[in-house]
Amino acid sequence: MEIVWLKRDIRIIDHGPIAQAAKSNRPLLFIYNYEPDQLSEHSVHGSHVAFVNEGLIDLDKQLGLYAGTTNDNDDDSSCTVAKAAEDHRNQSNGTSRTKYKYKYKFQVLTVCHAGILFTLNSILQQTRQNGGIHRILTHEETGHLKSFSRDKAVRRWCKTHSIILWECNQTGVTRCLKSRDDFSKMFTAFLQEPLWDTPTKAQLEKMRQRLVRKLKLYGLCESPLDPQQNEILQIPFEHRNDRADRQRGGETEGLAILESFLLRRGRHYSSGISSPNTSWTTGGRISPYVTWGNLGTRYIIHVLKQRQEELRQKKKANTIGAMDGPFLKSLAAFSSRMHWRSHFIQKLESEPQMETNDLCSAYQYLRRQPGDWNEEYYVAWSKGMTGFPFVDACMRCLIRHGWLNFRMRAMLVSFATYNLWLDWKRIAPHLARVFLDYEPGIHYPQLQMQAGTTGINAMRVYNVTKQGKDQDPDGIFIKKYVPELRSVPLEYIHEPSKMNRSVQAQSRVLIGSDEEHIQSCDGQLKMPFQPKIASKRDSVEFKSYPNPIADEKKSATKAKEIVSSVRNQNSTKRQAEEVYLKHGSRSSRNSNMDGIKPKALSSTVKRVKIDDQRNIRTMLIQSNLTNAGNMDKKKINTGMTTVSKNKDGQDRIDPFKAFSKHPSSEQEEAKQLVHTKECMHEPLKKNGNDWTCGACTYLNDKPLAPTCFVCGTKR
Ligand SMILES: Cc1cc2nc3c(=O)[nH]c(=O)nc-3n(C[C@H](O)[C@H](O)[C@H](O)COP(=O)(O)OP(=O)(O)OC[C@H]3O[C@@H](n4cnc5c(N)ncnc54)[C@H](O)[C@@H]3O)c2cc1C
Repeated sequence: MEIVWLKRDIRIIDHGPIAQAAKSNRPLLFIYNYEPDQLSEHSVHGSHVAFVNEGLIDLDKQLGLYAGTTNDNDDDSSCTVAKAAEDHRNQSNGTSRTKYKYKYKFQVLTVCHAGILFTLNSILQQTRQNGGIHRILTHEETGHLKSFSRDKAVRRWCKTHSIILWECNQTGVTRCLKSRDDFSKMFTAFLQEPLWDTPTKAQLEKMRQRLVRKLKLYGLCESPLDPQQNEILQIPFEHRNDRADRQRGGETEGLAILESFLLRRGRHYSSGISSPNTSWTTGGRISPYVTWGNLGTRYIIHVLKQRQEELRQKKKANTIGAMDGPFLKSLAAFSSRMHWRSHFIQKLESEPQMETNDLCSAYQYLRRQPGDWNEEYYVAWSKGMTGFPFVDACMRCLIRHGWLNFRMRAMLVSFATYNLWLDWKRIAPHLARVFLDYEPGIHYPQLQMQAGTTGINAMRVYNVTKQGKDQDPDGIFIKKYVPELRSVPLEYIHEPSKMNRSVQAQSRVLIGSDEEHIQSCDGQLKMPFQPKIASKRDSVEFKSYPNPIADEKKSATKAKEIVSSVRNQNSTKRQAEEVYLKHGSRSSRNSNMDGIKPKALSSTVKRVKIDDQRNIRTMLIQSNLTNAGNMDKKKINTGMTTVSKNKDGQDRIDPFKAFSKHPSSEQEEAKQLVHTKECMHEPLKKNGNDWTCGACTYLNDKPLAPTCFVCGTKR
């Protein structure tokens, strides 16, 4: 028999395994497993499972009923665009779409709640007498470390049982890519391959006749499992719920979204990309469909090219409408992003440890000194209660819909990692859960890039108040997601803490830190004071909103100083070069996928001298020790943050106070300068076999290397 093992590839179009199965005559099984070990990952959220369920139902229907045509549903596309727009309009009044129905019974798919190896073993045992399993047809996956080890285990199992494991590429990412220089070539080759045939109605009919039906499998599910009904206990209770206003899953829905984008919405893609208001409709909005495999990368690029060609022809013939003017430019920008997608996933494929380790190990001690982690900050950030309205609106938008545009995601990470000095590793799970499109291969490289730990990207510290003013000048987005601020005058909407008490009273919001006000984000309050203009009746309708939890400017300046001090170490530069060689974008354009300029980078190659990595740690620890010497009994300066005891005797951390001391206190700076100067004047430490490149001065440590590791010049 043959097995089509479905993972993050729940679709019928351009699906290698299904296309292969359609050509065969062997008994057949389509299996999908809710895998307990994968579901127990801290990145899993109920909304992910619900989205997958919708995809499974859609696929089951297509395999069982609608046989090989997606055009049947073409008529729906305009409805879906209209629906998307309507959803957008409905965001503020909280209208959600019809609740997902879990009554559906699978007709074609075999779905189990069990580990995949357990299911495969069981299938093998029950079918051995009839020839057992001949082939397992599936897609390659670049996932997190757990799915990586699951895939390795399946490969070993297949080898042991002499079963063919046929894995097909669906992202354009190359396994065991020898050199990053080859990525572009391989990706182009992937795109040039023809799409896999979608099974015809006749083939689907035949496949259904070949289905193996009477297997007794552990954890067999007749219907999709509903995490909200506690049917998947591996997901922690607090993460089992769904997001009412998220995008719906399934290939049919994905195709309609894609079509509406290519035909209409994409026209203003480029101009609308930065604002969370406009990108809602002008953005592709296809990310969850690509992540969960409802749409294939190659298929998207294929239809995109067709559309671009059509528009080009129109342009040539001068029949392009005035409205379609920016369309081609927008589609080119969209096309680049589809390439970025695979570019980023390739990084994780080539370095799976990126999920847990900093890409440039020079940053491994950053934000990980004792006391750096501030739970209160984390909670405020993750709930959208930081007192920065634009940040809070973005987080609450994510919590509600599971989607946010790129710039705002980057801003949330920047705020958490620079202004609040939180470790990217510890904010990663929350973001993974709130992103409906959680794709490990984009998630971790992007997180590290925004947190400044890749070594090869420019430091990006967003000024969140300015971003709010630029991207949401009328406060529409803020008022939608931070309802407490709905009546705040426009001049204060981005900085409500600047309102005096009487404006607060007029706006029916109390900004402040009184304990009782911080309790809830939209709860009713009792006023601690009675504003003159408010009547008794009005006073109970007051809402609370916190004061900013951080001083934006000071925290950013200090964070930049600390990151720069690591960045400027010679050992960091050296490691960064290595990272660039392994992962950096080779695009020569100024703004390439990593946002770096290769030319600028190559100039650092010339300056790189060998240096001791320990410097960085020593630097961070030394500053801690120095600070520790200054500590009094109540306050412990941990270097980057100040820890003091709160009422309950728990540590309360205030990074500002600490930032103002570390590491830029004059004493520290002077020390660091001397230290850095010493390093600069330190003679190169050579071991007997090292050799210095005459062209770029890089100290090569491979004695037999014929060319320089960095610039490739012959020895
Ligand atoms: C910290 C951080 C984490 C992110 N995590 C994810 C994630 O888990 N999954 C995810 O799909 N995207 C992620 N992104 C990238 C980006 O924000 C989303 O792809 C985009 O917002 C999805 O909306 P869209 O489909 O309208 O994108 P469009 O702008 O229409 O782009 C089309 C497609 O291109 C890809 N893409 C777009 N931007 C990028 C990018 N910068 N890097 C790589 N691929 C890109 C996506 O697949 C997207 O669907 C992350 C960005 C940041 C800053």
